[in-house]
Amino acid sequence: MTGSPKQVVIVGGGIAGLATTFALQERAAEAGIPLACTLIEAESGWGGKIVTHKVGDLIIEAGPDSFLSQKPWALELCGKLGLSGRLINTNELHKKTFVFSRGRLRELPEGLVVIVPTKLGPLFRSGLLSWSGIARMALDLVLPARRGAGDESLASFFRRRLGHEAFERLIEPLMAGIYAGDAEQMSLKATFPRFLEMEQQYGSLIRGMLAGRSTAGPGPRHGSPSRTMFVTVQNGLGEMVTALVGRIAGAGATLMPARQVVAIRVRAGRPGVRTYDVVLENGSAMSAEAVVLATPAFVSAELVRPLSPVSARMLETIPYASTATVSLAYAADALGSSVGGFGFVVPRMEGRELIAATWTSLKWAHRAPPAQALIRCYVGGVGREAILKADDERLVQQVRAELRSMAGIAAEPIYVEVNRWERGMPQYTLGHLDRLAQIKSSLGNYQGLYLTGSAYRGVGIPDCIRDGSETAAEVIRYVAARQ
Ligand SMILES: Cc1cc2nc3c(=O)[nH]c(=O)nc-3n(C[C@H](O)[C@H](O)[C@H](O)COP(=O)(O)OP(=O)(O)OC[C@H]3O[C@@H](n4cnc5c(N)ncnc54)[C@H](O)[C@@H]3O)c2cc1C
Repeated sequence: MTGSPKQVVIVGGGIAGLATTFALQERAAEAGIPLACTLIEAESGWGGKIVTHKVGDLIIEAGPDSFLSQKPWALELCGKLGLSGRLINTNELHKKTFVFSRGRLRELPEGLVVIVPTKLGPLFRSGLLSWSGIARMALDLVLPARRGAGDESLASFFRRRLGHEAFERLIEPLMAGIYAGDAEQMSLKATFPRFLEMEQQYGSLIRGMLAGRSTAGPGPRHGSPSRTMFVTVQNGLGEMVTALVGRIAGAGATLMPARQVVAIRVRAGRPGVRTYDVVLENGSAMSAEAVVLATPAFVSAELVRPLSPVSARMLETIPYASTATVSLAYAADALGSSVGGFGFVVPRMEGRELIAATWTSLKWAHRAPPAQALIRCYVGGVGREAILKADDERLVQQVRAELRSMAGIAAEPIYVEVNRWERGMPQYTLGHLDRLAQIKSSLGNYQGLYLTGSAYRGVGIPDCIRDGSETAAEVIRYVAARQ
């Protein structure tokens, strides 16, 4: 296909916008379609939530610190960027995770597959659940599956299958660590549809988990045989962003950092065929045949409001949780034996401020020099946002008080860094998938306008990359059909 290049504007230079641009260039080249991509980002730096700071020999992740290898899309992208050799696994020597429960840290039992336990003996020995809690959990093997296709909250589903105690003490803290959300409000269908399928197929989560293990055979346990469940990049996830930006710029994309998109307008076009003006804060505008909004849902809501008030209303109903990460570096010998394993999670029922803490320099190599230890604490989230009202100094004091009482860490840190993520984590609440369907249909008149990013079909980095790539495929089909 020849002719003048088709203009595509991507708004938002987080991982979703970057991955969309990369995939657009790749797919356009394969299809022989001349495409001119422009990526616009409000901040001066690229990567959105992915922010890596190098402080001396410390590598500090302000936002995400790793990604799941089981979902292959981030691994694949790293391969294409030539980063496979830069990926690092978790340090299996320290492979233990703890739950803070009834006054102390207790090790998560062996046999926990994702979040559902499959071995009852280790679970009992962990002291996390009472005998009666474990017996109730085992009822999962005989309880009938729920009928009806409606959505259900994570809390309702797991309480129904595994009982109150297993939910509150084991499952809730592991899920809160991922979504910073409230399991009473979160949609099972939008977050963990696999568990629903297991209930339907096997009548039991435990049986479904065991069956999944045996059919997986002796081969790779995760996306790749040599990868642990979570992986990261040697110098931090920022390395992935730098490589992506270099690659898309090298392939001819126009990159516009520190530019805010304030409106999307429809230009007169042939009936049924739209052309858009993407308007910047300085009043300038660029014309595009397709526009991809890879911005948070509340930003996209404002951008589409003049075109489709209904879509805007639906988009702004996607709630966001605010969180903060607090990284603390210590002299390694000051911590003694108080720190071991990958870190711990804290059940909401414990009524504490911390959601989780990671012993970063034990979990990953290359994060701190040998004489130092790096810890990262995670606070905030739905229903626990009060702590974020404190200024940085007070926030650090509160986090240190929690570390002292939960993990016995009283030492003075040698470096502290607070990173706040206001409205940083989209929440897939009950009815999320219906909401997405309504947004799609209400934007039906605006061919060539697309939404991607963490607000919709997966919050993790691999899902954002997959969604960006699928969006790129739709754009290419659309542009090709317009020739
Ligand atoms: C503290 C924290 C820890 C996390 N940990 C993990 C983890 O370990 N592993 C994992 O897989 N996921 C993790 N996540 C989730 C994951 O990091 C995010 O869901 C993902 O990075 C979001 O990518 P995105 O591109 O959709 O959005 P963003 O990264 O938010 O990018 C959107 C971009 O749009 C830009 N923008 C906004 N408005 C405009 C405008 N008007 N004009 C132009 N640009 C605009 C923003 O500046 C931003 O750069 C974590 C998230 C947080 C907050």
